[in-house]
Amino acid sequence: MLEEKLKHIIRDVYDFPKPGIVFKDITPLLQNAQLCEEMVDAFVEQVKDCKLDAVAGIESRGFLFGMMLANRLKIPFVPIRKQGKLPFHTISESYALEYGQATIEMHEDAFPKGSRILIHDDLLATGGTVVAASKLIEKLGGEIAGYCFVISLDFLNSQGRLTRFSPHVFSLAHYK
Ligand code: IMP
Repeated sequence: MLEEKLKHIIRDVYDFPKPGIVFKDITPLLQNAQLCEEMVDAFVEQVKDCKLDAVAGIESRGFLFGMMLANRLKIPFVPIRKQGKLPFHTISESYALEYGQATIEMHEDAFPKGSRILIHDDLLATGGTVVAASKLIEKLGGEIAGYCFVISLDFLNSQGRLTRFSPHVFSLAHYK
């Protein structure tokens, strides 16, 4: 089963980026091209009823499978980046972190108004990042068609923060 295979390969890195944090590292997955193909197959199956116009991926690990999935679906990919990284005119959204705040940005011509956007990131933890991404997309007149993640930390119970934007929340590997 794909989920078991992924959990076997995803690496726990202790004390990264700070002491006390156990970081789920997806980079070993990227060494297996066949597995990456299977992951994209699984995402395609999960989102098949979402009627998508584009996939938005969040910097930087959200670019990896986000671009692969958009390309497979033959729809555009929209990068959402940290403040100051995108070269053209941008819109931005700030959100609270454990300590301080972060700002993400998107190009103001990222997609036409009314587009149905799938938001993708490597991992769902508290949901703060994708809630900010959702607000950014709505600011530009986009509709949130769904979410997909490689990993979901289900024990943080953050799915409920996303279902007010879309009921379609998918992950390949759940940690309960
Ligand atoms: P959230 O905003 O709390 O849901 O955190 C999710 C964001 O933090 C995503 O952009 C992830 O890439 C990143 N992140 C948090 N913890 C991890 C981890 O253990 N592994 C990989 N990325 C993580």
